[in-house]
Amino acid sequence: MTSTDQQPFLSVKDLKVHFSTEDGVVKAVDGLSFDLAKGKTLGIVGESGSGKSVTNLTILGLHDRAHTAIDGEILLDGKDLLTATERQLEQLRGNTMSMIFQDALASLSPYHTIGRQISETYRKHTGASKKDARARAVEMLRRVGIPQPDMRVDDYPHQFSGGMRQRAMIAMALVCDPELLIADEPTTALDVTVQAQIMDLLKELQQEFGTAIIFITHDLGVIADIADDVLVMYGGRCVERGTKKEVLRTPQHPYTWGLLGSMPTLDGPVDVPLSPIPGAPPSLLNPPSGCSFHPRCGFTERTESGLCSGKRPVLEGAGGHTAACHLTADQRRDFFAEYATSQSH
Ligand code: SF4
Repeated sequence: MTSTDQQPFLSVKDLKVHFSTEDGVVKAVDGLSFDLAKGKTLGIVGESGSGKSVTNLTILGLHDRAHTAIDGEILLDGKDLLTATERQLEQLRGNTMSMIFQDALASLSPYHTIGRQISETYRKHTGASKKDARARAVEMLRRVGIPQPDMRVDDYPHQFSGGMRQRAMIAMALVCDPELLIADEPTTALDVTVQAQIMDLLKELQQEFGTAIIFITHDLGVIADIADDVLVMYGGRCVERGTKKEVLRTPQHPYTWGLLGSMPTLDGPVDVPLSPIPGAPPSLLNPPSGCSFHPRCGFTERTESGLCSGKRPVLEGAGGHTAACHLTADQRRDFFAEYATSQSH
């Protein structure tokens, strides 16, 4: 933990998630650790394939068990999720922990009304009567800002706009007052106004329910809005973590600098204009040697010859702000200033 002294509600320790494929073993997550306290939001940021979604599907127990080797520990309120049975996990999902996905349309059944989908989730976990569950569905739709919820509860998903469907999915995810909410790019497909409304809604609901939230995104602008702490993932590993202020104001890893430079919404965190990171994310089947960012990093020449490609850096730093990079702290400070200047010309 970096922003609080509270005991962690969720604790992930040295998590490894490896898939067997015809071509070999894909190391989707390779030694990830983090903590999250109740009422706090951890933003996990990284490009596609960085391991952020796989991490969270594993927490929820939604990975393909037959083809996945998992090592490490995931403790939720002291209970080890990796040794939990499918039945125990099913009980926890929707009750103690739930998830909001990017695509509400794909996550809601087109064959059942919005109200039925919310109330069935509620009944399954609480044993409430049909009447009480329907009342609860109306109440949740009202809370997420659906107008005339007592009428719209009988609508089908196709009768809702994209923003309303997303709100309905949030209502469904929160109907049992989960203590952990995982939001995977929940606002990506929405326009900016609806996106802002949904972020405000999540913050309100978090205050009301004290929910711990993991917010997965590739957008540091969104992180700036919602997160307490930030974890930057690259190639299945954490390359930087710290409080939002630390990571966005004084980033320590060249990949984080690149992410900041590639974001179109830079008014908030730092004054660096749009500039995509050159190159492609690393293969998780045959990851680069040493620092997996070295084929794309513009700073390898600044370290001892061959160090970046020969030795994997470990997370180091002061307090809770850590980064995995061979550059010294002084070098990083100077280079970030240099990098920000070069990006602005
Ligand atoms: Fe770049 Fe080397 Fe630092 Fe990796 S260890 S981020 S390659 S400078």
